[in-house]
Amino acid sequence: MKAIMKLHGKHGIWMDDAPEPKCGTNDVKIKVTHSSICGTDLHIYKWNKWAENNIATPLIIGHEFCGIVHEVGSSVTHYSPGQRVSGEGHITCGYCRNCRAGQKHLCHRTIGIGIHRDGAFADYIVIPESNVWPIHEEIPSDIASFFDPFGNAVHAGLHYEMIGEDVLITGAGPIGLMATSICNFVGARNVVITDVNEYRLDLAREMGATKAINVRNNSIAEFFPELNMTSGFDVGLEMSGASEALIDIVSNMYHGGKIALLGLIPNTTQINWDSIIFKGLTVKGIYGREMYETWYKMTQMLRSGLNVSKIVTHKLPVNEYEKAFSIVESGECGKVIMVW
Ligand code: NAD
Ligand code: ZN
Repeated sequence: MKAIMKLHGKHGIWMDDAPEPKCGTNDVKIKVTHSSICGTDLHIYKWNKWAENNIATPLIIGHEFCGIVHEVGSSVTHYSPGQRVSGEGHITCGYCRNCRAGQKHLCHRTIGIGIHRDGAFADYIVIPESNVWPIHEEIPSDIASFFDPFGNAVHAGLHYEMIGEDVLITGAGPIGLMATSICNFVGARNVVITDVNEYRLDLAREMGATKAINVRNNSIAEFFPELNMTSGFDVGLEMSGASEALIDIVSNMYHGGKIALLGLIPNTTQINWDSIIFKGLTVKGIYGREMYETWYKMTQMLRSGLNVSKIVTHKLPVNEYEKAFSIVESGECGKVIMVW
C-alpha cells in the first residue's frame, strides 16, 4: 500500500510502498480517505530534537484521519465494513488505575499512532475497536479528518465554565482557532486571541474572535476599555507553546482566574509565581482528549450548530504531500487536508 513515511533521520518525508497492516482479533482495519497534518507531523518532517529523541525510523506517520471500515477482527462487535469512522490516536493500556477509572486520557502507558507505532498517512490503518469513533452522517469527512486536534480544543474549551466569561486564548494555530469558535458557542462574553502571524489573526476574526491581537505590535491590556473589561480575563487557554504567551496569560488574568495549558511550553519558561499565588489562579494541564466524552461532545456540538469549517484552508490530493507539508511549514494556513 501507499504510505507517507519517515525513512531517514533528516529533514523531509517520503512516500513509499509499505506492507498492509494485519487486522487482529479485536482490531478494525480502516481504508483512509482523508487525513490532516498536525504540528507533530511537522516536527517529524523537520526532524527536530524532539523527533530525534522520540521517533524510530522507518515509521508511517500521521494520526489525524477518517475513512471507511474495510475489515473487522472476529471479536469486533460494533463496526462493520462500509461504515465511516475516525479514531482516537492514543492507544491506552486498559489496566492502569486511570484506565480502569474511565480516565483513559491519563493513562501513563499511552502509545501514539504515527509516533510510537505506524500511523494514518497510508491507504490503510489498523486500530483497536475501542479506539474507533463512528462519524455521524451529518458530519463531513473534511471535518472528521481532524477530530484529533478539534478534540484538543474541545477538551480545553469545555474544562472550565464559560458562560459570560472573558476568555484569552494565546496562539491562533488550528487548535486556538477552533477553541475560539467553541468558546463562543458555549457562551463566553469576550473571546480574545493573540498570535504573531497576521494570516492566522485574520482567520481568528473570521472564526468569531471578539478581538485578535498581534502581540508583536500591541499589548493585550490596552484593549480592555474597548472590551468593557476592567481587571483581566476569567479564563486563559494557552495554545501556542510560546513562553511569552504564558507570561501574557498569567499577567492578564483576573483574580481567581482559571488557566488551561495545552501548548507545549519550553521547560526554561519563567513566569511570575507571585501572580499565580496572590491572584489565586488555577492552572490545569490538558492532554489529548477525554475518551470518549470529548468525542461525544465534538459530535453533538457539530450537530447542533458549532461551525469550524473555516479552519479548512487547503485541501490537496495526497500525491501532493510535499506541497501540503510546505504549506503547514509556512504557517499561512489553518488545517491542511490530504485526500487519499
Ligand atoms: P501551531 O504551532 O500551529 O500554532 C501555534 C501558534 O502560536 C502559531 O500560530 C504561532 O504563530 C503562535 N505564536 C507563536 N508565538 C506566540 C506568542 N508569543 N503569542 C501568541 N501566539 C504565538 O500549533 P497547534 O497545532 O494549534 O497546537 C497548539 C499547541 O498545542 C502547540 O504547542 C502544540 O504542540 C500543542 N499541542 C498539545 C496537545 C496536548 O495534548 N497538550 C495536543 C496537540 C498540540
Ligand atoms: Zn492505562
